[in-house]
This record gives sequence, structure tokens and C-alpha cells, in this order.
Amino acid sequence: MTKDITKSDLLNLYGDLTFVVDLIDKKVTNAYNGNEPIKGDFSFADFSDIIAEIFDLQNSFKGKLNRFFSNLNITYEPFTLPLDYVRTNGEPSRIIYKGLKIDDSHVLFSLSASDTSTTSKVDELTKTHNRTFIVEKVKDAVDTNKEFALMILSIDNYDSFNDIYGHMVGDIVLIEAVASIKKTIGNRGYIARIGGAEFLIMIYVENNYDVIHGVCRDIRTSTNDLSIHNIKQIEITTTVGCASYPKDGDNYELLFKKADKALIRGKKKGRDCFIIYTPERCGEVSLEDSVETPTQIFDKMYNVNTNYNVIAGVLEIINRDSNFQKNIEDSISLIGNYFLLDRITLVRLNTENDTIMNTQIWYNPRMPKHVPILKDSWKGAWRDTMDASGMVKVNQVNSNKHLPIYEELKTNKTSSVLAFEMILNGTMFGHIKFEMCSTNRFWQQNDISALMLISKIFAIKLHKEYENNIHYKELFYDRVTDIYNYNKWRNDIYNILENNPFTKYSILEFNIESYRTLKSVIGPAACEKILVLIANKLKELNKNTVMYCRDSDDKFLLFFHHQDEEEINKVFYDMVHYVDANNPVKNAKVTLHAGAYIAEEGEDFTVALDKAILARRQTGISTQLVYFSQKFYEQQQSKTQIELHMRDALKNNEFLLYLQPKINSATGKLVGAEALTRWHFNHEKLLFPNDFIPIFEENGFIEELDYKVFENVCIFQRKIIDSNRRPVPISVNVSRYITDYKKYISKINEIRNKYEIPNWLIEIEITEGMYINNAEIIAEFINMLHKEGYSVSMDDFGAGYSNLSSLATLDFDLIKLDKNFCKNQSGKETTILASIIDLVRNLNMNVLCEGVETQKFADYLKSLGCYIVQGYLYDKPLPEEAFIKKYIK
Ligand code: C2E
Ligand code: MG
Ligand code: MG
Repeated sequence: MTKDITKSDLLNLYGDLTFVVDLIDKKVTNAYNGNEPIKGDFSFADFSDIIAEIFDLQNSFKGKLNRFFSNLNITYEPFTLPLDYVRTNGEPSRIIYKGLKIDDSHVLFSLSASDTSTTSKVDELTKTHNRTFIVEKVKDAVDTNKEFALMILSIDNYDSFNDIYGHMVGDIVLIEAVASIKKTIGNRGYIARIGGAEFLIMIYVENNYDVIHGVCRDIRTSTNDLSIHNIKQIEITTTVGCASYPKDGDNYELLFKKADKALIRGKKKGRDCFIIYTPERCGEVSLEDSVETPTQIFDKMYNVNTNYNVIAGVLEIINRDSNFQKNIEDSISLIGNYFLLDRITLVRLNTENDTIMNTQIWYNPRMPKHVPILKDSWKGAWRDTMDASGMVKVNQVNSNKHLPIYEELKTNKTSSVLAFEMILNGTMFGHIKFEMCSTNRFWQQNDISALMLISKIFAIKLHKEYENNIHYKELFYDRVTDIYNYNKWRNDIYNILENNPFTKYSILEFNIESYRTLKSVIGPAACEKILVLIANKLKELNKNTVMYCRDSDDKFLLFFHHQDEEEINKVFYDMVHYVDANNPVKNAKVTLHAGAYIAEEGEDFTVALDKAILARRQTGISTQLVYFSQKFYEQQQSKTQIELHMRDALKNNEFLLYLQPKINSATGKLVGAEALTRWHFNHEKLLFPNDFIPIFEENGFIEELDYKVFENVCIFQRKIIDSNRRPVPISVNVSRYITDYKKYISKINEIRNKYEIPNWLIEIEITEGMYINNAEIIAEFINMLHKEGYSVSMDDFGAGYSNLSSLATLDFDLIKLDKNFCKNQSGKETTILASIIDLVRNLNMNVLCEGVETQKFADYLKSLGCYIVQGYLYDKPLPEEAFIKKYIK
């Protein structure tokens, strides 16, 4: 069919210039200027002079023409290609090449200078056959008596939704629609695009109503689930009119008219349906004179705008299975060769931080290579040059010296540039630059829309790639729950706070009570179910007001863009109820604990986060959600300071020995002393045991301290002995958290031996809490201490759960009555005190009362038979020097 178009057809239709190119010998034969034949056999270079003369073009045109012909690689399909030139008067001019391969080595060309505004109104996107092709196939089928159906398919409301979503979306819809229809047709037939959103489909199918019905239905439903979700969620419906051979006619025109009637009928019915032609349903078709004129046939042939062939090519390449990088490389090389560009630069950005991830450059092989200057991430001048759609279009850089990017383009040896940001759903994946270096190019609407569409296709592809990237997923998503992980969550928050440091926000942290135990009981898989349940509930939250993530194990974090306590409570307790109601693990109660913090304006985020976590640690059985309190925070802070510094403090001798005298109230004489520690923290401030002993007991450091105090006492006694003064026994406290008594004893012996202190000069105080539950072990400990020659006191007797029986079973040398006895002096208590003192004396143990502050009470104790007292009445614990000065003779 294509071969039926002759030179004279072209001559009649296009008066400008017609010629035949010999691709093998690289020359021009049979050239006509209008109806005037020009002498044949020109080299391409010679011919360019003639063309330049006819179209009044500048000289630079020659090289371009040469390159154009050298790049020719065409098929039997007709093609058209617009190229831009400059006239001698400097005006831009576009020349449309229409070409047709007439045999293996010859191409017939028609050349015309065109008004640059005449561009095709319909976007021909899809690499589908044209109408002529189908006409031919219909003829063949009728000739060979092969049954078939001819359908016209129209995408419903295409124009209006093209208007709503824009041409880019419309174009993609067409591409995708054709792809899925093609898949349904398979090798049973053909599809051609015959209008904006109208397609002609021919399918070889038995002329049976049911079969045709089935085929129509399949074709229509194939477009129902187009995968264009990356762009917009759009419902596509189609209307189909169908006629068939031989039932409805034996020539294309008749069958087309009947299918068209059926289509019109379907449209009248309200679209979204298919109609199989019957005269009753659709009306009779009269075959008026409808034979197309040669001009019409020619126009139809050239209806395919070849720009879209290259788009189809790009789509095909980019969707290949091979390496994505390679697909991009091949695509840009196709584009470059096709549009006769000099350079294409595709820059991929790291969407997280707008930095360059990867750059791919294609050069026209004939061009000298210039290293392109890629200004940092397309910012600054490039952005200033862009229009709202993210496009930069510059023709003739040299005449546009005011351009912000002029300098860069000039150094880049660029004459014209067309560039696009590749943006999808607000995310920028990169940018692409199409450049001409040696010649100017006048970017025409056709090129622009084609290249813009290609950029969009890249953006879609990069977006898909980005979404599918497992590496990316692992970086930002929690594997188990598929919600953000901590890093992603924190980064997002940093971004928000960086842009607006005074954002008002709150933080909530929650976890599962005794998660590790739960995990060991119900197993990790069941635990994961609970985590997923929690995540699913989180996913229901409004993302505009709260950002959430799984931190680690059972910990979840929520960032609220507000400080509404009620709302925070609601979110947490909704979660609690939800988990209760939907707990997938039977017999395992899941209890959540949460801490919340309402941040101060401009407060450091990590500090705020710590505060929420601290608050969560304060939750208990009755309180599942606790808000951060400043007092608790300060305690925690000083605890941290203490723990950070305690080891150095031990080395730096910051633990000071204070001694409190034990006095015989009958004589007023010193009988001993108790060693009580003070911590000269950093040699700055004095800390009392209450500030640090509980912390040491918790973290185990107490053992180190006790040895240190013991050593300090030994050093002290050594000093007294060496200065020939009279030492008295000093008692030291053993922490109730010491459990390895053998080790304790061998350690203190070692110290005592080192300083050669007689064992009667040291007493050991054991507190009541220590033996409450393990009297036997303590009895053993006391025995061991006695064996080593130490005397042993029971400290704080009567403070906690007084255990009178322990007095009888444990072999103490001295009972120290707790200072509480001095405070409460009601009738009952004095009776108890009297009987305890009596009991102790009867058991042959000594008795001392601590915390004696008044002479009156000391006298009273004396009257009960308790002579030894320790308390503020005589002295507070004194620094060793003060103690020596006052008491040691
Ligand atoms: P404790 O062993 O029962 O020591 C007696 C506490 O009562 C001391 O408090 C002492 O200062 C205080 N005290 C003495 N006289 C009076 C008084 O008349 N009125 C009042 N209200 N209090 C009086 P401190 O020094 O604060 O020690 C508290 C506790 O810390 C001690 O109770 C002891 O259990 C522990 N502790 C102190 N130093 C050490 C140590 O080196 N090692 C161990 N493991 N514990 C120590
Ligand atoms: Mg004590
Ligand atoms: Mg005590």
C-alpha cells in the first residue's frame, strides 16, 4: 500500500521541494522544486546549498542536514520530522520533513517550510498501526474469506478528564490503554489509533454472536484496571461499536460505518458499554460516496506524528527487564539520536536530601566532549529560570545574556537548552537537560511536549524504582510493622523543626509491660502479631497531626503537632482499648505503658524525647500514662551525674570519713564511734548518704564504697596508733546488698592486715533489713565475723519489721535501737522500749540508742538501763580532724 504513493502524489501535494535520497551512495536524485525538476545526482553537501537557497537559510544549516541524512535509519512506515533552522534574516524557521522509504536504499522526501505554529492538535502517543494498515488487513481478510470483527473503541469522556488532569495524564492513559488492549488482542488481530481517544480494532474471530460478544467484553474490561495509579486514581471506561465480516459487509467502508453507527448508539445509551451492530438497533447504513481523496489518504498516512514513535520506543526500553541504569542510558541515547541533540544530562537526586545521587550523560558521537558543569543540585540560577511547571526553555543562549543561567550555559558551550525537573506527587527525583551545542534550536511545541512527556515517564519510572527499592525500605521502614522506623521518624521531625524551630509539639512513648517475659512465654511470632496490631491502629491516626514509628522491640513513639493533653490521652487510651479488644493472643494480657511530654517552645528535640521516655519509666500498675515531671527529671539527672562520676570519685578520695561519737551517758566519756560517709562531690559540694547510697545499692557500686570506708577507717586508726594516742572501736556499716559474705570478710581482712589494725578496733553494723528473710545465712555471717575477731552490731533495731525472735537467734554483741524510738514517746512506745532494753540486757547483749537529741531522753534511757547513746545531743557526725581534735587524747 505505501508503495502506491508516488513521487507525483508528493509533488501535487507539496509544492516546495521533493526529492529522492539514495542512502547507499549518500546522494540525492530526482529533485523537484515545486513542479520544476532540478538536475539530479547531488551529494548531500551540495544539496544543502540548494535547500538553503530555496528556504533562505543560514549556512550553519549544512552540517545539520548532513548529520540528519547520515542518521537516517527508517522503516517502511511513513514518517515526518520537524527541524528548526534560522533564515538569513535571523528569523526562526521550521522545516517539516516527510519521508517514505520506497525501496531498500531509496527514500522519497517532501520538504516544506512551515508556519511554526501549525502543529498536530491530537497527541499521537501510542505506537500503534494506522488506519491504512487496518484497511489493508481488512482487504486481505475479505480476499481470503477469513472471518473477523471490526470495532471502534472510544475512551469515554477523554476530553473532559484530559482537561481536569492535564495532558500528561491523558497521554499516559492512552499509552496504558493501548498496552492492555494489545495484550487482550494478542496475535488475534490489530489495533490502530484513529483519533484523540479512538481506536480501530480488527480481530480475527468466528462470526458468531456469542463469540463476538465475549471478545467485545474482554476488550472493554481490559481497560478497567489500568495501572496508572502512580499518577492519579482514575476510572477509565470505554464504549465499543462492533461490526463483523461477513455478516455486516464485505468492505472496509461499510464495516467501519456500521461499527461507527453501533458506537454512536452506545454513546447515546450513555457510554460504558459495547454495541454489536444490527440494523434494528443502530439503523441502516447507506453507502454514500465515501471514497477518500488522495489528499485524505496522504494526510491519514502522515497522521502519525513520529515524535510519538520515539516516546513509544522510550517506553519499551525503559520497561525492559534489564538493568534500570542501562535502560535509562539506552533511552536517552535513543532520544538524542532521534531529536538530533548534542547532549542529554540526566541527574538523579537523592529524594531525602536533594543531593546528587547519579548523573548520566549522552553525547552526540560527533560532538567534542565538554564536561558539563552541574551546579549544585539544580538550585539557584536554574530554579530562577524555570517556569511554574519546572521547565527551562532557552533558544539561542547568546541572545539571552540576561538569563540567570547564561554563564553556566556559555561555559557549557550550550546554544539552546530544554530542561525539566522530574517531579511526581511533589517529590523531585531529578532533572533532565536536552542541549544543542553547535547550533541553535528553536524548541517547538511538538518537541517540548514530547520531551516533557519523556521526562514525565522517567519521573514515573524513578518513582517506581524508588518505591520498590528494598534498600530504601529497609532504611526507613520497620520490617515487622511496615511503619516508619526511628531514623525516618526522627529525620522527618528534624526537618520540621529545622524549618520551624518554634513548632508546638508533644511526644508520647509507649511500650508493652514485661515484653521480654511475654515474648518468652508466647513466643516471638505471637509478639509480632501484637506489634502489627498496634501499628495497624497507629495507621488510622491523622498523619497531619501525628507522626509515629516503632522504635525498637516493643517501643513506639508518637510526635504530635499540638499540645492538646486531652487529645494525647485519647490517642493512648483508644490504643489501650483497641489492643484489649483485638488482642490476637489468647490468655496473654497486653498492658501498655506510656510517657508523655509537652515540649517547651524551642526545646531541643532529643531532650524532649528523653523526658517522655523518663515519664514512661514512672508508670506503674495503677498509672498507665504519666506526664513528665520536672522534679523527677532533676532526680534522674543527678542520678546520672552520680553514676558517671562515682568511679573517679573513689580514686580521687572524694568519699570522706565522718565519725559520730558513741558516749556513755553515765560518765560522759567516749566509748566508740560510727563511720558515716560524706561525698565531697567533685571537691565542690557535700553529698549525704541518702543522696547516693540508694543509687549505689541499685547499681552495685555500694560494695566498692563499703571497702573504701573500711579502708578509710583503717587508715584513721593507723594514724591514731602511730601518733601514740588512744584509739576507740569504730563501727562500719555493711550494706544489705552485699551477698557474698566470704568475699566481704576476706576483703576486709586483707585491708585490715595491710594497715595492721587489731580486730577489736573495728565493729561491723548489720542492718535489720538484711536478715529479715534469711536469718540462717546471717547467723553464719555473724559467726564468721566473730571468728575473725570483729564484734557485730544490729543496726536500726525497731525501724522496720522488728523481729524480736531474731534477738534470741542471732548472736549480736550490740543492739542499736533505731532513732525512731526517740521521736515517738507515747505511753505504749515507752513500754515497748523499756521491755526491749530489758530483753537485750537479759540476753547478755549491749544496747545503744541512736538519734538521741535531748538530755531528757538520755536520762530516761539511763533510767531504763541503756547507757550508751549516739546522737546530736553529743555530736553530729564530724570530719575526722574535728573528731580527733575533740575526742582523741
Ligand atoms: P545509720 O547507720 O543508721 O546511721 C545513722 C544515721 O543517723 C546517720 O545518718 C546519722 O547522721 C544520723 N543521726 C545521728 N544522730 C542523729 C540525731 O540525733 N538525730 C537524727 N535525726 N539523725 C541522727 P547519715 O550519716 O545520713 O547516714 C544514713 C544512713 O546511711 C546510715 O544509717 C547508714 O545506713 C548509711 N550509711 C552511711 N554511711 C555508710 C557507709 O559508709 N556504708 C554503708 N553501707 N552505709 C552507710
Ligand atoms: Mg549505722
Ligand atoms: Mg542506724
